[in-house]
Amino acid sequence: MAKLAKFSDPAHVIAQSVRSGQTSASDVCQKYLAEIGKKDDQIGAFLEVTTELALAQAAAVDATVAAGGDPGPLAGVPVAIKDNMCIEGIPTTCASDILGKWQPPYTATAVERLISAGAVVVGKTNLDEFAMGSSTENSAFGPTHNPHDLTRVPGGSSGGSAAAVAAGLVPVGLGSDTGGSIRQPASLTGTVGMKPTYGRVSRYGLVAFASSLDQIGPLTNNVHDAALVYQAMAGSDPRDATSIPDSGDDVMASLTDGLAGLKFGVIKEFSDGEGFEPEVLASFRRTLDKLDALGVEIVEVSLPSVEHALSAYYLIAPAEASSNLARFDGVRYGLRVDPGADVETMNRATREAGFGAEVKRRIMLGTYALSAGYFDAYYAQAQRVRTLVINDLAKAYSQADVLCSPTSPTVAFKLGERMDDPLTMYMSDFCTIPSNLAGHPAISLRCGEDPQGLPIGFQVLAPALGEALMFRAAAGVEAAVGERIA
Ligand code: GLN
Repeated sequence: MAKLAKFSDPAHVIAQSVRSGQTSASDVCQKYLAEIGKKDDQIGAFLEVTTELALAQAAAVDATVAAGGDPGPLAGVPVAIKDNMCIEGIPTTCASDILGKWQPPYTATAVERLISAGAVVVGKTNLDEFAMGSSTENSAFGPTHNPHDLTRVPGGSSGGSAAAVAAGLVPVGLGSDTGGSIRQPASLTGTVGMKPTYGRVSRYGLVAFASSLDQIGPLTNNVHDAALVYQAMAGSDPRDATSIPDSGDDVMASLTDGLAGLKFGVIKEFSDGEGFEPEVLASFRRTLDKLDALGVEIVEVSLPSVEHALSAYYLIAPAEASSNLARFDGVRYGLRVDPGADVETMNRATREAGFGAEVKRRIMLGTYALSAGYFDAYYAQAQRVRTLVINDLAKAYSQADVLCSPTSPTVAFKLGERMDDPLTMYMSDFCTIPSNLAGHPAISLRCGEDPQGLPIGFQVLAPALGEALMFRAAAGVEAAVGERIA
């Protein structure tokens, strides 16, 4: 089995070396661009490599250092951006035909903040069209391959960013997570992927899928780097109405606080269930044993409502998507197919030609769930389940500080294997969806691998605004597992 997995230097090590003038950002940038040039043909992580932009940003970082200034905590760190986030003047495709080569006139706040912290944008990465999927196969531009086994998927929808990090093409990728799209690909590629509390990272410049669930977050090689990138991006933004006030939390300081005194709650429904591969459960259990051996208190908690969470998500997310995607009408963005009869015919022809099968399925599901006569039975009922999930989580957090579970019920599956079976594909997000429905933060980190060498992920969940606690617990698990790449 062809394998291209490799760890890059950690982001914090690169930043330190560039900040201190030991390494130049331009050299770092050239090195990573060369690596992308060498390997990405086989992986398909990038939709566009922004060579010119990257070299200009790297030169600016070097100029700051030469002038005695500090370019910031991500000085010279190459980053790859999922192609549903806007960068001024660079096409944003959302891996869809409908956007054509639309170029946004502005840059997403999260990306802008990384650049202000010294990061260097090397490209835009592949995804499932409009972030709808769990395998990065629903891309209009072809699938991304998992660097651990090129015949398998990297997960999705942020599979391009995850694969880029797992192959050592960049130390940092940005993803978006609506139902698991950062954490599930992190799990399947052996990387670290984190979804912040809803409202912590601005969604300005992120093309909306399901606005009440979407959050931007980092994909990295280790927990320390994830915290560093999160800290650089987080914070209130007047351009996102759902952004929340700054907390003043120092997540970096919490990383070294250790596990002493923390109580872990194992989510019963996600650790004994049907549909989980035995190797995934075994690796999860081995990790709990390691924590137990360190004296960590572990209790079992139950979230009875999660049995309905997946169904609720697949009503709420498509409902919001059906509304958000109405703007792609052949007038405002990209593609226009115009048979010439009237505007409505043009709208229909454009959407018929521009959207892929999964996006159409979601628009139809969502429109149905919101339609008169069905609204209460489907959409409103799903919102009631959302409240039950929030209540169950609140109860669990009265029994434990953080919760944990496997991230994905399975390891990376074969390309093509689930394409004709949307329900099995949707099961990929079974363990990740509750955090989105509740708006809570969660992180996935590698805890082991199966006998074929395919990575297995461990998920740490924390209550709303609990990022510091979540990073502290995750850093502790990472150290206990002994797989910290730093
Ligand atoms: N796989 C889930 C879906 O298809 C989650 C996607 C996401 O988080 N963007 O909706």
